[in-house]
Amino acid sequence: MMMRCMSKYVVCFDLDDTLYKEIDFLKSGYRKVAKFVENCFHYDAGDIYKQLYSWYLKGENPFACLNETYRLDKPISDYLNLYRNQEPTINLSDGVEDTLNELKQWNVILGLITDGRTISQKNKIKALGLDRWFEEKNIVISEDFGSEKTDERNFRYFMELYPGYKYSYVGDNPKKDFVIPNLLHWKTFMLKDNGKNIHKQVPVPEGNLPQHTITEIKELLDLIR
Ligand SMILES: [Mg+2]
Repeated sequence: MMMRCMSKYVVCFDLDDTLYKEIDFLKSGYRKVAKFVENCFHYDAGDIYKQLYSWYLKGENPFACLNETYRLDKPISDYLNLYRNQEPTINLSDGVEDTLNELKQWNVILGLITDGRTISQKNKIKALGLDRWFEEKNIVISEDFGSEKTDERNFRYFMELYPGYKYSYVGDNPKKDFVIPNLLHWKTFMLKDNGKNIHKQVPVPEGNLPQHTITEIKELLDLIR
């Protein structure tokens, strides 16, 4: 393996559908809810899970359908809390572990910029063991920060923490991921949807587009200079 030392380089990643597939978090959450329903009402968790997932695929509200179909009296917020606060069963996508290992070996600073609820994102970070590569100070969860994904502060934070470095952002969502880093002259990379992404990669205005599109995360290793 070629060795390279890249000091003064920060590579920030998005979390959902970049480092792991968000659909797996959804499935994991539905399994928790199904188990809860089994415990409370003695329906089979496997059957409930299959129903929840098929309602999701049809674009319906799975938890509302659940109460309606089975005439359950649990508030939907109970299901939502279970879903959002779950300790999920999820795995890093193919190639992510090797790519992060390689970048770390090159002395690249690894950062995470993600939106979503703090508790959910923290549980995902823990489940994926991301502390192996990302120091706590290099993790920005926008709710924690009181900001949205498209807020400049999320990105400027790294520019202030590591002045004079080169910066890259790797994400999946052209609607929101690349607008700000493009404006701030970061290199931007979009990991192409392999068909499993929750948010589809719809056409967007030019300023939203990434500078590079990659089909596999390991392509980063050749494109980052
Ligand atoms: Mg994403």
